[in-house]
Amino acid sequence: MRQKLNPEFAIAMAKNRNLLGYKALKNARHTTVGMPAFFQNFLSPISYGSSSMSIANSGLKLPEDRNRLLLHSCCAPCSCEIMEALVESKINFTVFFYNPNIYPQQEYALRKNENIRFAEKLHVPFVDGDYDADEWLLRVKGLEALPEKQERCLVCFDMRLEATAKFAQENGFDVIASSLGISRWKDLDQVNKAGIKAALKYPGMIYWAYNWRKNGGSQRMEEIAQREEFYRQKYCGCIYSLNNRKIIYDTIRK
Ligand code: SF4
Repeated sequence: MRQKLNPEFAIAMAKNRNLLGYKALKNARHTTVGMPAFFQNFLSPISYGSSSMSIANSGLKLPEDRNRLLLHSCCAPCSCEIMEALVESKINFTVFFYNPNIYPQQEYALRKNENIRFAEKLHVPFVDGDYDADEWLLRVKGLEALPEKQERCLVCFDMRLEATAKFAQENGFDVIASSLGISRWKDLDQVNKAGIKAALKYPGMIYWAYNWRKNGGSQRMEEIAQREEFYRQKYCGCIYSLNNRKIIYDTIRK
């Protein structure tokens, strides 16, 4: 991963590096063309709820008088409400996309480019972490068969938030947060534990354990995702969550 770049340079690099892939995917972003056949027909997209809210989580302030936030983002649907709330609250922040758990690489590119599209729309700086998939597979070795919300997910959160804290420390951010906890499909305690542990490795760094689900945040997330016509993933991200969804789907169809 590019760890020692200053943020402005990293952002410029990320934009350049993604430009071709972004253009290629732009017109096909609502499809799964080119992916394995079962991607195209199993289960409906993950739903986040459906009530109508106009404002959620506005008037935010960073904790402990911090002034520069690095927001780890797992995908556009999960980070959209958070990003809008931070912009609305005039908080100085940058999006950090580091998700080597996502399989396959086409899915990774789809999720990342949707996030870039929204960051560009809001004029929010975006940093692209590397696709460290081999390292991720090593970290979760032996935990493959576990269901979601257990030890494999904690290891997965650890890896992503450790990278976030490291990049933050090396590039002048003084607080980190993550979009991971906004989804009801994730264990919020696991996410917060991973974030706190990651921040503690770097003197002066703190993790902002804000509950983004509250004040209608989850519902607002759904509204924005629909408004922006984001690509909607059908599983959490890793190959094991994909296989699990496929097994459930196959069972339902029998
Ligand atoms: S199910 Fe999701 S959180 Fe858990 S290990 Fe897989 S990608 Fe990570």
